[in-house]
Amino acid sequence: MSQSKQNIQNGSCPVYKKCGGCQLQNLSYPEQLRFKQNKVEKLLKGFGRVAPVIGMDDPYHYRNKVQAAFRTDRNGRIQSGVYQSGTHRIVSIDSCQIEDRTADEIIVAVRRLLPSFRMTTYNEDTRKGFLRHVLVKRGFATNEVMVVLVTGTPIFPSKNHFVKALREQFPQITTIVQNINPYQTNLVLGERQNVLYGKGYIEDVLCGCRFRISPKSFYQINPVQTELLYNKAIEFAGLKGKETVLDAYCGIGTIGIVAAKHGAGQVIGVELNGDAVRDAIQNAKANGLKNIRFYKGDAGEFMQAVADEGEQLDIVLMDPPRAGSSERFLDALIRLAPPKVVYVSCNPETLARDLAYLRKNSAYRVQQIQPVDMFPHTAHVECVVKLMKHNGEGR
Ligand code: SAH
Repeated sequence: MSQSKQNIQNGSCPVYKKCGGCQLQNLSYPEQLRFKQNKVEKLLKGFGRVAPVIGMDDPYHYRNKVQAAFRTDRNGRIQSGVYQSGTHRIVSIDSCQIEDRTADEIIVAVRRLLPSFRMTTYNEDTRKGFLRHVLVKRGFATNEVMVVLVTGTPIFPSKNHFVKALREQFPQITTIVQNINPYQTNLVLGERQNVLYGKGYIEDVLCGCRFRISPKSFYQINPVQTELLYNKAIEFAGLKGKETVLDAYCGIGTIGIVAAKHGAGQVIGVELNGDAVRDAIQNAKANGLKNIRFYKGDAGEFMQAVADEGEQLDIVLMDPPRAGSSERFLDALIRLAPPKVVYVSCNPETLARDLAYLRKNSAYRVQQIQPVDMFPHTAHVECVVKLMKHNGEGR
């Protein structure tokens, strides 16, 4: 067995240092979970008891979304992989222990097909050349596979033959999209896209609901753990059947749609990204839900407007990005005063900051804290927190 294979099986990857994606790889999985438990307890134990982190049975190949940058080295060899942390040098990667295996195989196959189709790779310095990135997303429940070829220029001379050759090798591919990104940017995807094959998006199923995922919209990258996370959020919400629920920072509407399916009276979703809101509206329809509406906008501003109108909310579900929520949002939450708040967070530091703000400025008190390991081998940890309004009685 080669040294690199041996390393992977021992849990440490040959490009561990250069890639920088899996910060905890030197620890066994139980040690990683202890590390995350300690991290959350350190930050949150002042608010209440932290339940034991929910880990994965099989913490490998969980990523349903994989992207690779393409480049040609000085010797004319085509490379694909990730950027070395903090640089624009590429670390070649053919397989990764946290990424979906099919996605990795497709990326290698694209790289091997390029020369026979005379397809070049994009050069960031000269801004010439063709292929910049390949992005693959797979629906774990549906097995639908989307391949996005990100190109520096729109012209794709051999596209039909290329698509045919790739589909012959991977009949499980359900859609292929060309995304055009001619800009000098760190963003992977550009604005324009052409569907080369299939419907241009994939679908996946979470908690019994079906979701459409387009190339640009946010979707949780670990669907196995996302189901557990959402189930916890719904359990904490304790829906009885008539509640008005706000899903703030709703993305493509996943949590709100699951809540609507689990008996919420009506659900309102708010989200900043227009593509995600379009997907959310489509997703509500596809799941046959009439009791859910979505708005595009800043969650804080939206909450202020709802508070100004004097509307009553029973539950606020919130799932902000890593930067956490804003004081504007939290002030509106305090004014609206829903009896229950469920805060889903991908960053325990900003979660602690926001919980401290609520403790100082309102009667909300933490009732339950549940960490979930959504990102094994990395230092990240997700948490779901239940807050209730303390009415002061008995104190
Ligand atoms: N709840 C969703 C998405 C969570 S990710 C899910 O589980 O899939 C956080 C989301 O917040 C992203 O979709 C991002 O576009 C959105 N967002 C970021 N800042 C925002 C703001 N100020 N107001 C509303 N949405 C925002």
